[in-house]
Amino acid sequence: MQGTLGTADRSQSQFTTHPQPQAAVPAFEAAFSAGIGAVNGSALRDMLRMAQVPGLVNFGGGLPAPELFPMDRIAQASAQALDRYGWKAVQYGTTEGFLPLREWLAENTCPGAGRVTPEHIQIMTGGQQSLDLVAKIFIDPGDTILVETPTYMGAVQSFVPYRPNFAAVPTDEHGIDMDALAEVLRDLAAQGRTPKFIYTIPNFQNPTGRTLSLERREKLLDLTSQYGVFVVEDDPYGQLRFSGDPIPSLAELMLRRTGGDPDRSHVLYCSSFSKTLAPGLRDAWVMAARPITEKLVLAKQGADMHTPTLNQMIVTELLPLLPEQTEKLRQSYATRADHMLAVLDRELPQGVTHTVPEGGMFLWLTLPTGVNTTAMLPRAVERKVAYMIGECFYALGGGQNTMRLSFSSAGLEDIDRGVAALAQTIRGELARL
Ligand code: PMP
Repeated sequence: MQGTLGTADRSQSQFTTHPQPQAAVPAFEAAFSAGIGAVNGSALRDMLRMAQVPGLVNFGGGLPAPELFPMDRIAQASAQALDRYGWKAVQYGTTEGFLPLREWLAENTCPGAGRVTPEHIQIMTGGQQSLDLVAKIFIDPGDTILVETPTYMGAVQSFVPYRPNFAAVPTDEHGIDMDALAEVLRDLAAQGRTPKFIYTIPNFQNPTGRTLSLERREKLLDLTSQYGVFVVEDDPYGQLRFSGDPIPSLAELMLRRTGGDPDRSHVLYCSSFSKTLAPGLRDAWVMAARPITEKLVLAKQGADMHTPTLNQMIVTELLPLLPEQTEKLRQSYATRADHMLAVLDRELPQGVTHTVPEGGMFLWLTLPTGVNTTAMLPRAVERKVAYMIGECFYALGGGQNTMRLSFSSAGLEDIDRGVAALAQTIRGELARL
């Protein structure tokens, strides 16, 4: 059996006849790119580790409620997809995505339904990939991009490896502060800098749960049009409104300004089935002008060729379920949010404020200055409650006295127990000040 790998006695193999030199440890750190070196993922790692503590009420993770996943329908849709499409369900597919899904999106859910065509729709492997590939097609090292403060830390994580300079724009209870945005744009213009894009989450923002008002949406479009700045509108939560009146998306408002022509819009609309169906399906989309979707195709070819064909077909089979499923989610999240808000109002010490979301999965707490929620987290975990520390949502630092709470996957009793423990922990911190 000489020279045959995988046999029991390898000592006689031709591969071990020479003495083996001791392998040196590779210079890992020196070899990595500056881009990946700049990514800080420790908050998320710590969070996932803490989630393992038995009996912990975890308000930190942003997970949809698992008991609401339509498991029977997903099983049925998988069987139907395999039955309907046979081998095509597991063959390579086009980079743009499964055409029936893109056609449906163009006609139904996308802003500007009926005016956009499948050519304006790029299917992505999760909204997270949309952010990565948008960064890939726009950012050269040193380019300026604008982010609201605080913002979704996963977006910052996607953008950082492309080495942009971040300019942070403050927000208040109605979203981005437009006077501050005008000032930032004016200052940058005075330095001869035009930001490549502004990244914003107008509906039930992650992490604050806040919604950008209609008036501010119009103003954002005015300013970005005036300065030639693209808008990356991230809207994974838009379908999950449980109170207040719906507000048209930036993409929709912009289409009204272009007379319905998506190719004249500077807004890229990103959304996902992660929060309406199930995140593990990893199906999302970007709707944008054709010059942009054409570049996204190139970027995606080099990333993963295409989103898994079978998953796209399963999602397509599930489309008729969406209205019923989103209604179920809205009702359930409304109940959980209402309950959490009531318990927060009852339990929290004076001086702690919270947002009141009209949808989505999150709300945001601001504690008195001097309390550091990062330092406080281990003490909260001792009391069996966890949250997401606020400072990881600040691209340029800050927010030490803030935290994000997720209400989407907690049961009502867990909310009672978790908020009581949180309030007790905060009281302890205030006593230390
Ligand atoms: N954008 C925002 C604002 C998010 O909150 C998330 C997920 N938490 C994503 C994008 C990524 O979502 P997906 O699961 O579709 O990749």
